[in-house]
Parts: sequence; C-alpha cells; structure tokens
Amino acid sequence: MEPIIQVSNVWFKYPGEDPSVEYFVLRDINLSIGIGEYVAIIGPNGSGKSTLARMFNGLLLPNQGEIKIAGLATTTLENLWDIRKTVGMVFQNPDNQIVATTVRDDVAFGLENLGVPRSEMQKRISRALEAVGLSGMEESAPHYLSGGQKQRLSIAGILAMQPKVVVFDEATSMLDPQGRKEVLNLIASLHQSGTTVVHITHSAEEAFLAKRILVIAKGQIQLDLPRDELYKQSINLEKWGLEVPLPVQLHQRLIKRGIPLTDHVKSTEDLVMQIW
Ligand code: ADP
Repeated sequence: MEPIIQVSNVWFKYPGEDPSVEYFVLRDINLSIGIGEYVAIIGPNGSGKSTLARMFNGLLLPNQGEIKIAGLATTTLENLWDIRKTVGMVFQNPDNQIVATTVRDDVAFGLENLGVPRSEMQKRISRALEAVGLSGMEESAPHYLSGGQKQRLSIAGILAMQPKVVVFDEATSMLDPQGRKEVLNLIASLHQSGTTVVHITHSAEEAFLAKRILVIAKGQIQLDLPRDELYKQSINLEKWGLEVPLPVQLHQRLIKRGIPLTDHVKSTEDLVMQIW
C-alpha cells in the first residue's frame, strides 16, 4: 500500500525550562500509514499521542528523524502549505474550532484562506455540509448547535479543503453519547469514501472501530496490529492501562472456543446479532 504518512526514527521533546533535562516525549518512532487506511492510535493520557498527531501536519517538528506526508518532509518550510492541505486536524473542543457566525461562513473560512474561487467555494460548502449531515442549516448560528453538530461543522470545514488525511485527536471526548455516535459514524463514512483516517483516542472501544490499532505508551509504539489480529491473539491491553471493551472480550472468548464469527464485532449488539 502506498504510504501517505511516513515517520522515520522520530524523537521529540518539548523545550524544557531546564535545557539539560533530556525528557523525550517520543522516542524513536517508526510508522507508515497507507492511503485509505483507518488507523487508531490509543494509549494512556500523556503517552505522546497528541504530540505525534501534531507532527502529521507540521504543527510540531521532530528534534531528530523525519516525517513525510505524501512524500513531502514536514521540516522543509516550503512543503508546509501542501502538507496542511493534505492533512486536516479535528481537535477535542468544537467551540475552539468554530470561527464564524453562520454555518456557511464557518465552512467558507478555510476556503477563503486557500483562495478558492467563489463558484467552487459554494460547491465545496454544499458537498461538505451534505457529507456531515448539516445541509439546510447554512444560515444557522453555530452557537445554537448541539455538541455533535458543532463537531460535525468543524469536520465540514476540514472536508471542504479536500484533505487526503483527517486526524481526529480525541474528537469525541467532549461530546454526549449522541454527539459521539454522530462523529463516529461520520469517521466510518469518511473512511468508506477513501479518506485516510487517523483516530487518536484513549477509548479502546473507539479504537476497535478502526482496522489497524497502534498502542503508544511511554513515548514508544508498543503494538501495531490489524484489529482482527488483536481479536485472535487476546493481547493483554490492560498492561498499557487500557480496558478491553466487553464485545471484544466476548469475541476473543468465542474464538478461543472455536465458535466462528463471520466478521468483527463493533458493539455488543453486533455480537448478539451474530450469535443469534
Ligand atoms: P497524550 O495525547 O497521549 O495524552 P501528549 O502528547 O499530550 O499525550 O503529551 C505527552 C507528554 O508531553 C505529557 O507528559 C505532557 O505533559 C507533555 N506535553 C504536552 N504538551 C506539552 C507542551 N506544550 N509543553 C510541554 N510539555 C507538554
């Protein structure tokens, strides 16, 4: 699979008050993510997930090593414009990502910065709002939207820029269950339409929706496996401080007992349906 994100021997530390302190948040990270993959990066709080995510669009640069996005090194200043167009980032708090007083203007904001012509802009806004299920709300004030709708609006702003990769950094953690469901469904449909998805989360339940799961702890990648392998191998995630979701535990037990399941299970409901 052709890589779109390549991380080679990356070390990173935040500039410390005491420059003699050699505290590396990320230590010798190597990683390749292919076009169209749906990858979850999971790990305990403070393990370096957000730091790594911010490197994918050049918000942070490695102290050592290299990150390439679609073949372009993030450390080369001239590449940053293209890299930021290629990699869209969705953060935790939708309120911090909304900048305009109407839904339409909010989606238009990034496009204006890109210098997209008016006619093209209208098309992109309509398409992006449709993709996130907010068509018809163009004139609404973002302030009055629900948490899930606000987050979908900030995702529309990113989609309008036609990124090849969207990185979700704890993008559901401030949402109520309904809002969370809306955003998780949207992530799945983005993946289905061919966008590369990187989903940073501390929730194992959310991580198990991805096709490939990376566990990061203590600044290093501890595991990097397809989800289905994690099911089969009953790998102990608890040692990284992560709780294995109940449907996954049940699935693993059934596999151990030789009970075949046709496909993965995403939820307890899926599992119950398959057992029936
Ligand atoms: P995670 O996303 O896994 O919770 P982070 O990447 O946010 O982890 O943080 C990794 C480590 O880097 C933590 O110890 C955190 O305190 C530290 N850190 C994060 N941001 C900064 C910053 N801006 N300045 C200094 N230290 C930071």
